[in-house]
Amino acid sequence: MKRQESVLDRIKETPDERESMMTHDTENTAVYKLREARSVTVITGAGVSAESGIPTFRGPDGTWSNAKIEDVATPEGFQRNPQMVWEWYLRRRNEYAGAQPNPAHDVIAAMEQHYPEFLLVTQNIDTLHTRAGNRKVLEIHGNINQARCLRCDTVFENPHFTLPENSITCPKCHAPARPHILWFGEMYDPAQLEQINHFLAATDVVLVVGTSGVVTTPVYFALYAKQHGAYVIEVNPNVSEVSKDAHCHLRQNAGVALPQLWQAVMAEEQ
Ligand code: NAD
Repeated sequence: MKRQESVLDRIKETPDERESMMTHDTENTAVYKLREARSVTVITGAGVSAESGIPTFRGPDGTWSNAKIEDVATPEGFQRNPQMVWEWYLRRRNEYAGAQPNPAHDVIAAMEQHYPEFLLVTQNIDTLHTRAGNRKVLEIHGNINQARCLRCDTVFENPHFTLPENSITCPKCHAPARPHILWFGEMYDPAQLEQINHFLAATDVVLVVGTSGVVTTPVYFALYAKQHGAYVIEVNPNVSEVSKDAHCHLRQNAGVALPQLWQAVMAEEQ
C-alpha cells in the first residue's frame, strides 16, 4: 500500500520543483474567496516587516547574519551570558521602535475590522501589527517589549531600553528576568496552539504572508486549515515551504500585493 505523503516529504523538494507542482488559481479567485469569507486567518512572518526596514530572518543582511543562534536564541546561550543576550535584544528593541507599520500591516488591520471572525497569528516579535491596530493577534514567538520572570513566570512590559546595572528583574518577586521570546528548543504555548487549531478548523480563508516556512509551524497551520476546507493564499515574492499547499500565490512584496488585493475585494463588494 502506498504510504501517505507527509508535509516533510514535500519540503525535501527543491524550490523550482515545488513551483512547477503548485496549483495556480488566479487572483480573481482569491478576491472572490475573500469577498465571500466570514472567517479569515492571517499568518505572518518576517517578510511582512521587510518593507518597514526590519531585516528578515535569513539572508546576507538577515537578523542572524551577525549572531550565532545558539548564543542569542537558546536558553543555554542565555544561561552562559545573560548580559550579552539582553544587550542583543535591547539593540533590536531600539531598532524596531524606530520602524513604522507599512501598507501590508495596514491592510491586515483593516481585515480585522471587516471580518466577523478574524485571527492574526504572527511569528514576528516586532509589535508592528499591534501598532497598526490589530488586537486579535497571537504573537507565538513572543514580544520584543516584554520580559518574563525566571522564577515566577510573570510576563511584564520591560521598562528598559538599555541594560541597567542590576539587569532586568521581575516587578513582583524581584528575581532576574529573560526576554519574552520563544527560543530554539522551547515549546509553543499549548493554550495558544489549541486556540489557533480551533480557529483554523472553521476558517474560510488563510493568508500566509512573508514566511519562509523554514520554521515549519506556518506550514502545518496552512495545511491543517486546508484539510478543513479553507482556501489558502500565499503572499511572498519567493517560493517557500508553504507554497505547495497554497491555492493561490501572489508573488510580490506584501506592501504592494496586499493593498492591491484588498482594493479589489472592496471594489467587488460595492
Ligand atoms: P524568514 O526570514 O525565514 O523568511 C522571510 C520570508 O519573507 C522569505 O520567504 C522571503 O521570501 C519573504 N519576504 C521577503 N520580503 C518580503 C516582502 N516584502 N513581502 C513578503 N514576503 C517577503 O522569516 P520567518 O519565516 O518569519 O522566520 C521565522 C523567524 O523569524 C521567526 O522566529 C521570527 O520570530 C523571526 N524574525 C522576526 C522578525 C520580526 O519580528 N520582524 C524579524 C526577523 C526574524
